[in-house]
Amino acid sequence: MHRQEIGLPHFLIRMTESELRTVLTDRFAAVEQRIAAACARAGRDRAGVTLVAATKTVSPQVAAVALELGARDLGESRPQELWKKADAIPAARWHLIGHLQRNKIDRTAPLAALIHSVDSVRLLDALDAFGRARKLPVPVLLEVNCSREPAKGGFAPADIPPLGEKLAALTGVTVGGFMTMAAYHDDPSLCRPTFAELRTLRDSLRVATGLALPHLSMGMSNDFEVAIEEGATLVRIGTTLFEGLGDEAA
Ligand SMILES: *Cc1c(COP(=O)(O)O)cnc(C)c1O
Repeated sequence: MHRQEIGLPHFLIRMTESELRTVLTDRFAAVEQRIAAACARAGRDRAGVTLVAATKTVSPQVAAVALELGARDLGESRPQELWKKADAIPAARWHLIGHLQRNKIDRTAPLAALIHSVDSVRLLDALDAFGRARKLPVPVLLEVNCSREPAKGGFAPADIPPLGEKLAALTGVTVGGFMTMAAYHDDPSLCRPTFAELRTLRDSLRVATGLALPHLSMGMSNDFEVAIEEGATLVRIGTTLFEGLGDEAA
């Protein structure tokens, strides 16, 4: 196979597809070991944590190799990029992990197994209307800004408890739980309060509404082990898997 065919950027053009496979195999194995160890430390079943490989910095060709190596759940932060990659790789389960504009719901919801990043009541209502119209609820998580960084999107933690009754009544979306992003810390244990807050918020809402709310999407390359210890069911990992294999500026 010609090296250009696997879509590597020019500075890596000399990496063959088999070299790419070797690199990705090793990285997935290392991440798998770390996930399993974090589960063991927390007394959790490994099957309760899904790895979502965040492919936003790599080409569809590299994402396709990840899928072949067993990464079934792939995440994109931009809707247009999700459309493109889901079209190229329909066998993956696609997760939208970044902001969704309401005018992109029609094209995005049918392609996404889960939308992690519902960050406003307006978007939630629009997704609900879409799900009711097509008579198939849209699986979503609500994004909560537990780190309270102004640059981050999502509901404020205080916005969530008053939403309980509304969430329980929605029929066009299935609210599966919550997503958050911690602030960056060199010492990832400093992210623990952020993750614990999301879990506590979920636990209270579960009691208040009777909703199952099984999912906590939290943990990225820098902090996924701490997130698993605090109850993450979905970890979204990009850099640790794909660094140097794509357009790092994406
Ligand atoms: C890119 C991205 C990730 C992955 O982050 P890394 O630090 O590269 O592992 C996770 N979540 C969201 C929302 C992202 O945009």
